[in-house]
Amino acid sequence: MTLPADKEVSFKESVNLCFDLARATLDIEEGLAQYIRNVNNVYQVRFPVKLNGIIETFIGWRAVHSDHKLPAKGGIRYSPAVNQDEVEALAALMSYKCALVDVPFGGSKGGLLIDPRKYDRDSMEKITRRFAFELIRKDYIGSGTNVPAPDMGTGQREMAWIASTYQSHRPGDIDHLGAVTGKPISMGGIQGRVEATGRGVVLGLREFFRHPEDVKNAQLEGTLEGKKIIVQGLGNVGYHAAKILAEEDGAKIIAIIEFDGALLNPDGLDIEKVYQHKVAMQGVKGFPDAQYFEDGQALLEGECDILIPAAMEGTINQQNAAKVRAKLIAEAANGPVTFAAQAILHERGVVILPDVYLNAGGVVVSYFEWIKNLSHIRFGRMQRRWEEGQNELLLQAIQSSGHRVPEALSRKIHLGAREIDLVRSGLDDTMRIAFQHIRERYWSHPHIESYRTAAMALAIEKISTSYQIMGVYP
Ligand code: GLU
Repeated sequence: MTLPADKEVSFKESVNLCFDLARATLDIEEGLAQYIRNVNNVYQVRFPVKLNGIIETFIGWRAVHSDHKLPAKGGIRYSPAVNQDEVEALAALMSYKCALVDVPFGGSKGGLLIDPRKYDRDSMEKITRRFAFELIRKDYIGSGTNVPAPDMGTGQREMAWIASTYQSHRPGDIDHLGAVTGKPISMGGIQGRVEATGRGVVLGLREFFRHPEDVKNAQLEGTLEGKKIIVQGLGNVGYHAAKILAEEDGAKIIAIIEFDGALLNPDGLDIEKVYQHKVAMQGVKGFPDAQYFEDGQALLEGECDILIPAAMEGTINQQNAAKVRAKLIAEAANGPVTFAAQAILHERGVVILPDVYLNAGGVVVSYFEWIKNLSHIRFGRMQRRWEEGQNELLLQAIQSSGHRVPEALSRKIHLGAREIDLVRSGLDDTMRIAFQHIRERYWSHPHIESYRTAAMALAIEKISTSYQIMGVYP
């Protein structure tokens, strides 16, 4: 199928064109395909907040792209550039992402037009609580309807305020904690949620490198060890992905691109040090152990094995796609490669691990958090000590048969699973299975030329099956 890839289109159109490519490989009813493709409903709200005696008006959105499964799920973004089209595109990506990784949610997304850096903590709390109230009273938040989470510009702090506002407006809802994910642990959050998207990116890459045929197809070889990687964006996702890749996989993060410039060190950057510097100095400029480039974006074209865009949409576009030298692009952000750029990269043999797959770790662990909240018990609480008892018995049985188990190994075998172990194991399993399905579709279908199209086709198929089983009448 040929689609207009010769000019840059909006983010939303870009997502829809990816949908069209995938849809063309499927045998589903056209009316249903059109229904799936478009956003089901979007709520726009303007509300006033009095800050330091002055009334300011804010504008925000919450879009529900699909409700074939409920609740609909997706983050809330705080940004001075957010708009309705962007929120709709992100909501659509949430639907495809959840379907692909078998998270039983519809897709949603929210946005508030604000520059969070311009407001102090108290003002942010007032604004967030008011925005949450506006969404709650229109039923755009609830554990069975619509569950927000962090996204760009928001984190645990904002989720705590939203959850607390929800609780005060729905005092009888015993499942109130399940109305928001990405909360602090002390408020019903789950271990491993903060790192989840970044860890998911790494687990996705690890699975990719377990398949020599796919690795060769990207003109690479071996494992992640020693691979030269450039990361754009050292926010929550980029930071965790880079840190895990460097510390657990032995990859070399040779460059980090941030809003105020880029750092380059061919021997590999110390991610923790860069991150601490960024937090303290509000930027990467001045970091001692690297070469600094004021025009950071130029490093997107730097020589490397893997490029990880972890900031926002449209980073790799028609302007720079022909100059990107990475062999593999790992989309940690939502929509970092535009539809037009994708065509150019494909032509040049650059392989893309698509956002709908690679950054799904956040929502996967949000799903675990939601389950924890609905079951009102921490994972592992019932079985951990029992497991340890069983493991102890097993060790005793081995030792009594005359075999000695080395001390270090025995300590490992003895351990029962903690919440973080179970979360990481569930996330790992999810990312492995999803990539196996994507690659199967990719290698077996004659008209599927990219992992993105394969992933989207799988997602559309699943959503369409749900709607078909459900029927389209109320
Ligand atoms: N904002 C994240 C995303 O884009 C997480 C969404 C969630 O956990 O619901 O996937």
